[in-house]
Amino acid sequence: MERANIVIIGAGIVGLSIAAEISKNNESVYILEKNWNFGLETSSHNSGVIHSGIYYPKNSLKSTLSIKGNQLIYDICKNYKIPVRKLGKLIVAKGEDEIKNLDKLMLNGIDNNIEGLKFLDQEDVRRLEPNVVVDKAIYVPSTGIIEPTDLMEYFYSKATKNQVQIAYKTEVTGIKRLDDGYELKGISVGEKFNIQANTVINSAGLFADKIAAMVGLDIDNLGYRLQYYKGDYFRISGPPPVKMLIYPVPNSIGLGIHLTPDLSGSVRIGPNAYPVEKIDYKVESNKKEFIDSVKRFIPSIEKYQIDEDSAGIRPKIKGSSEIFKDFVITHEKNNGLFGYINLVGIESPGLTAAPAIAEYVSEIYENEIKN
Ligand SMILES: Cc1cc2nc3c(=O)[nH]c(=O)nc-3n(C[C@H](O)[C@H](O)[C@H](O)COP(=O)(O)OP(=O)(O)OC[C@H]3O[C@@H](n4cnc5c(N)ncnc54)[C@H](O)[C@@H]3O)c2cc1C
Repeated sequence: MERANIVIIGAGIVGLSIAAEISKNNESVYILEKNWNFGLETSSHNSGVIHSGIYYPKNSLKSTLSIKGNQLIYDICKNYKIPVRKLGKLIVAKGEDEIKNLDKLMLNGIDNNIEGLKFLDQEDVRRLEPNVVVDKAIYVPSTGIIEPTDLMEYFYSKATKNQVQIAYKTEVTGIKRLDDGYELKGISVGEKFNIQANTVINSAGLFADKIAAMVGLDIDNLGYRLQYYKGDYFRISGPPPVKMLIYPVPNSIGLGIHLTPDLSGSVRIGPNAYPVEKIDYKVESNKKEFIDSVKRFIPSIEKYQIDEDSAGIRPKIKGSSEIFKDFVITHEKNNGLFGYINLVGIESPGLTAAPAIAEYVSEIYENEIKN
């Protein structure tokens, strides 16, 4: 039976970035991916926004890793000439209640040391974005956009240059604890396979809770069970109404239906957020919800201007629509699983955080696992 030093489950942006980082100092790294190519799930069904980190509680993983990831992504793009645009973002508020929440968000941003945040009044906003009519806004200069596939290609090429092996069409269906590591089994290109590994890294995105359960962890007790929240997008046809990213004040489930220009300047609206049981990427929402949301801050937008675009599914930790839940990134040594690292609930800002998550996981590996 084949034996690997490190097996990473999942070739999304997180699995790829971990592979690129951990293979700098370690040999025999494998990625097992159930699809025919990398990044076909959440990592290619998102907004492509490089977030600033303004939203998350200070010192949480979501905050520290997105703030670090933001900087790392701009550095990677500069060094490797990957297209990126630091467009800046406006978080906009209308009416007293939203202004109160906006003020709280500013305090959180200051607490998190997000650079360059500025309050703007109605006139300031109108000068920057003539179609946006609101009472107050926060300007966030470090927010930008990228094509997620470009970043994944970068991690992929770094990983394969370091001899990382990627097995596509290879789905893990079972994991057994051995005296000296783990045995993974499943189906690879229609055939049964087994592989042993000293270390297993679970970065299976929407399936991360199921992979955690496979090794015997009680995912309900540990708070790892995922609940899927789908988000649909529409696209604005004709001249783009905005140049920057425009977000409402966030609600508890998502960041609220927002406007995001892509690298070509074309603007998408979304995503909304609603619970689903199964994974499919068909747009199911009605235009009206999107138009009504956007009309609150861009009154001139009309229904005929928007068309269905795409959808993504958030791997949210159950209960995170009621209270804040952080990323789970943990070496399960205290649960009797030395050498087993779980990454669960890697929803937004997981794309932004990916290179910082990779450094974080590599540090766990170097400090706690490698002998
Ligand atoms: C609607 C939406 C918008 C978002 N917008 C942003 C944004 O603008 N900015 C931002 O920073 N973040 C954003 N995110 C979050 C970001 O997209 C995710 O955090 C990130 O893509 C997660 O990457 P991943 O590698 O963990 O997961 P995935 O991309 O889902 O990768 C996991 C991989 O594991 C594989 N896999 C699963 N099970 C198995 C198995 N049993 N065997 C083998 N392989 C398996 C899957 O096939 C998949 O390829 C958004 C998310 C959504 C849903």
